[in-house]
Amino acid sequence: MRWIYPHKSVKSRKVFQAGSLIALSFASLTQAGPVTTVPWDGHTGAFSFTYDDARNTQIPNLIPQADGLGIKVTFFITNMYSFPSAKADWIKAAKNGHELANHTSDHGSPSGSNVSSMASTLRALDPSVDAVTFAYPNCSVAGTSSVSAESFMGRGCGQATYAWDKAPGDWMNVQGLIINSGAPTPGVNLVNSAKSANSWGLTIVHDVGPNPDQYSLTAADNKKMLDAAVAAKVWIAPYATVGAYYRAHFVMDAVTASGSGPWKLTWTSPHPKMPKVVKLRVKLAAATFGDAVEVSQGGTKVSQESDGSFVIDFMKLSLDVQKGGSSILDDSKFFKAAKVQIVRAGSQLQVAGLPEGSYSYSFRTLSGQEVGNGTVRAQGAVESAQVPAPLHRGGLLMVIRSSEAATISVQVPPSI
Ligand SMILES: [Zn+2]
Repeated sequence: MRWIYPHKSVKSRKVFQAGSLIALSFASLTQAGPVTTVPWDGHTGAFSFTYDDARNTQIPNLIPQADGLGIKVTFFITNMYSFPSAKADWIKAAKNGHELANHTSDHGSPSGSNVSSMASTLRALDPSVDAVTFAYPNCSVAGTSSVSAESFMGRGCGQATYAWDKAPGDWMNVQGLIINSGAPTPGVNLVNSAKSANSWGLTIVHDVGPNPDQYSLTAADNKKMLDAAVAAKVWIAPYATVGAYYRAHFVMDAVTASGSGPWKLTWTSPHPKMPKVVKLRVKLAAATFGDAVEVSQGGTKVSQESDGSFVIDFMKLSLDVQKGGSSILDDSKFFKAAKVQIVRAGSQLQVAGLPEGSYSYSFRTLSGQEVGNGTVRAQGAVESAQVPAPLHRGGLLMVIRSSEAATISVQVPPSI
């Protein structure tokens, strides 16, 4: 078999092995970070709706409204109004995906015992209750060490939004906008700010019902905020869900991978009170792992999503990655009969099984960039040569066309 390069001289020739094998060298490009978390679970912007004090209007007015829109919200619970009297309803809400979180047992300044006792009370309600975030009563940020002992994140008050790539200055003071005019407009505006800045925002509301005070909204006005978030297509999720995803990504995106695989990536939790499960949507760099990978956690395979990402549980604190094999994407009868095989080993590419004849070929990255082409005549001899650079370390698509216009596309496995 003979490779012919119309625009580049053949640099080296050596017999690789008897039979129809071709060996080609590959150039490598620099590696990027091996793991990248998809911002805000694949949305532009994120938003959390939080409601305080277990107010009496929340169960009858807010929960059906949020459920009707498929929105999960956060309730910062204290022993006031409907807690613990409506405990059964609160457990139902938690099982339904709403967050029950800590607002102290007595709505006092965080002192240690009023934080830990409320955390214990909530966690005893149901296994679905993590109770690992906190909201400072009266927006008064104090006692942060006792808050941090029970919570990975504390909510203060302010008109902030949080950018994906920049960690909050203080995880014990991640601020929400308190509605203070009895009107939804500031909340709607914050939703739109979060969307346009691709950042995270959150609101704080007390009651949802008739005759609202300045910190409360009518059900219709509350719905205007929720509707704005739905229309903006931001990621709408409870405070703990977005916060844990956000906090975890700074750890995940710093994970390193060395060697040629298989890889066991490991990391540590950024805080002892992270939620029990933190689903994280990640992408694995082709430059490190190749385009075809198999991913598992604790022996359980993680399927690849349609966007190429993997949804993993960050709290398992490890990820197993190994290279997948090459796969023939498009085959014709001609090539099927020939059983063409391409094996990439180290810097060599070996093509075996081409029937005698003339072929043209091209290489493309999986994003479509052509990185090499030429012609080849298979006649039983064996040669090795460098294909035109650059070629990346990840998977490649090789398209071979016979003189009779039969084509075969082969996904070339990543280099080692
Ligand atoms: Zn309160």
